[in-house]
Amino acid sequence: MNLDELQKIVYDAGIVGAGGAGFPTHRKFSNNVEQIVVNAAECEPLMMVDHHILEFHLQELVDTLNLLLDTMDAKEAIIGIKGKNMHLLDDNIVASLKRTRVKIHEIPDIYPAGDEVVLTYETTGKIIPEGAIPVMVGVMVINVETVYNIWKAVNEKTPVVDKYITIGGDVPKDITVVAPVGMKIRELLESVGYGELEGKAVVNGGPMMGKLVDLENDAVTKTTKGLLIFPETHSIIQRIKMPVNIAIRRSSAACCNCTMCSDMCPRYLLGYDLQVHKTVRAAGHGEVQNTEAFLQNSLCCGCGVCSVIACQQGILPSKVSMEIKGALGRHGLKRQNNKQPEHVRAERTGRLVSSAKLIDRLGIRRYVKDKVEKVDTVFSPKAVCIELKQHVGKPASPTVREGERVTRGQVVAATDYNDLGTCMHTSIDGVVMAVTDRYVMIGR
Ligand code: SF4
Ligand code: SF4
Repeated sequence: MNLDELQKIVYDAGIVGAGGAGFPTHRKFSNNVEQIVVNAAECEPLMMVDHHILEFHLQELVDTLNLLLDTMDAKEAIIGIKGKNMHLLDDNIVASLKRTRVKIHEIPDIYPAGDEVVLTYETTGKIIPEGAIPVMVGVMVINVETVYNIWKAVNEKTPVVDKYITIGGDVPKDITVVAPVGMKIRELLESVGYGELEGKAVVNGGPMMGKLVDLENDAVTKTTKGLLIFPETHSIIQRIKMPVNIAIRRSSAACCNCTMCSDMCPRYLLGYDLQVHKTVRAAGHGEVQNTEAFLQNSLCCGCGVCSVIACQQGILPSKVSMEIKGALGRHGLKRQNNKQPEHVRAERTGRLVSSAKLIDRLGIRRYVKDKVEKVDTVFSPKAVCIELKQHVGKPASPTVREGERVTRGQVVAATDYNDLGTCMHTSIDGVVMAVTDRYVMIGR
């Protein structure tokens, strides 16, 4: 198989990054890739999706990495995994990797080990230039579940119609399920017995970077990785809910300019010129002439360390930063003076945030379970809503009409192959009930 053929298979299967923003995977493939870095960090607390795939499908991951190495003519593939999770890996498979191009690399148990800038540094020693993508240093970063989805597309000819999701938090037992893409989240939680949500809120994603679920409308997408249930009064929910204008007002009233938010920033510590305290100050005081204080936020990954770990004043620098980053993107504004950091800052080692510290700071120690079971529930949703934009890039355009009969795995929306986008498939057999500018709904 050559690179063009593999790209087409991955596009046809609708594969996007399963662990983050949903970058269309076929667009990451390049002959300039020297190293493939597999993100097995799973650094957000309570998330246990990659754990299960690493434990039960390691051989499929290795086979797929060998295929990627061959088709891109890359030098090596590195699975970046925390030492505490090495026991998940099958000893025989690990032994078989000696003197092959697939390596296992132990990364520290820190947050955010899964940020691609941090992960690339920890696994290869390379620092991605400011504002650049990993391939500019010859690296392709890919998530565990995404690799597994490529294996399924190549070997089983199956597109992305299901999603691994950890359901946890303030529940008696955390579980990982494989749910149909498009299933309403409320229906999914009811199906596993967690539908009683009075006084609780649900977070889509981890406790640091997740977003609140709209239980009336939100459905499973290709990037849904965790559904965490917390009391509405929990500080995680209060932080997510806080409007950005309150964070800005707080900054004008309470910021003491201590610079800890910048000093602890994982990207600043890797040499990036990202100093979020300057943003907080400029936003709080309306210093709009200080353009650099705002443009630098394009370097922020939204990890939340500045808000949860660094700031003692209850200001949320990450919220301000990500709001500005979003606005920069919407207006097509780019920072012009990005540079290549020459070295990591000397103080980095002493300022790494351990997972244990993060768990305590988040106040979720009581929600961390010893074991998260993979449950083989068979879901039978009455209907699914396949969103047209589950990925970075251009939304997919519907390819079906209301009343049309479709079968599981059939394409119901797609972007042009040359655009940044992918294909969407129905996860159930049924009839197209609605086609809107946001989704295609299929009912049984
Ligand atoms: S969220 Fe805060 S700590 Fe994280 S990258 Fe952005 S500025 Fe740095
Ligand atoms: S850590 Fe908080 S108080 Fe200190 S500079 Fe940053 S926003 Fe201001």
